[in-house]
Amino acid sequence: MAQPEVNEYSTKDIGAPDGILTNRSVVWIAPKKVELQDRTIPEIGPKDVMVKVIVTGICGSDAHVWCSNPSKQPPVMGHESAGVIVRLGVEVSDRYINQRVAIEPSCPCLECEFCIRGQTNLCAQLEYCGHTADGTLCQYFICRATMTVPIPESVSWKEAGCIQPLAISIQLARRANMRAHQTIAVFGCGPLGLLVIAVAKAYGVAKIIAFDIEQSRIDFAVKHGADIGLLSATNTNSEEPLSFATTFINNIIKQENLGSGVDLSIEASGAEACVHMSVVVTKPGGTYVQAGLGKQLVSVPLFEVTAKELTIKG
Ligand SMILES: [Zn+2]
Ligand SMILES: [Zn+2]
Repeated sequence: MAQPEVNEYSTKDIGAPDGILTNRSVVWIAPKKVELQDRTIPEIGPKDVMVKVIVTGICGSDAHVWCSNPSKQPPVMGHESAGVIVRLGVEVSDRYINQRVAIEPSCPCLECEFCIRGQTNLCAQLEYCGHTADGTLCQYFICRATMTVPIPESVSWKEAGCIQPLAISIQLARRANMRAHQTIAVFGCGPLGLLVIAVAKAYGVAKIIAFDIEQSRIDFAVKHGADIGLLSATNTNSEEPLSFATTFINNIIKQENLGSGVDLSIEASGAEACVHMSVVVTKPGGTYVQAGLGKQLVSVPLFEVTAKELTIKG
């Protein structure tokens, strides 16, 4: 029989928590190697909840990370999950059984200077699900109740699986100080770029220009919020990278009547060529935000950054 679509799940399908027989988990055991293991479920602490995981997104960072060696004992993968609470720790009073929640996948210490300041994503002792700590690509996941975010019935499970990357996109928009009057460029129309475009649309940004090297991704971006979709040039003749980026962007600026460039560029591909193009397309005094994760070490045209007084943020 065909498996039901994730959208068809409802809390009625959850079943009694005491009927837990297995905790099938996708475990990252070696570079590019995962294994389906039946993991024991840890003891639930007094401030914890147990979530039956309904949906987990596979992230681009999973694809990067699994090429390396797991740093500690092989962790369960996954960090973009939502599900239903099936058990409560004895001290939990603000969550309830069968509540639909998204899971915050970072585990901050809540004691260091960054946590105290409210910047838990910068925690000095941060453990991250699926990377340094066991992740959510399993049947049952235990975490602090405060790391679950209640979600309404109107959000489908498919949508719920996007809440974590959506939260990142909203954080990027805040970091970028995104404003309605702006023209922005987004490089890379993968999931992160598309969610940044969706957030920019919600902010009422005046003009959103999406770049990618795949026409199908550009078409999707234009269908879902971008005002203009442009195919990024590829440096097939191994031209000097910065002059290649400058020639391409100058043509785009002329073609699209962008004046001195865009107010804000968000680099969501991690590709070095897009880093160059993003810096070049940003107008003097503008802001550049790096969102994509590519190579560890990438060149940045710092002369241009300095001359144009760009604000660069991570
Ligand atoms: Zn992710
Ligand atoms: Zn901390």
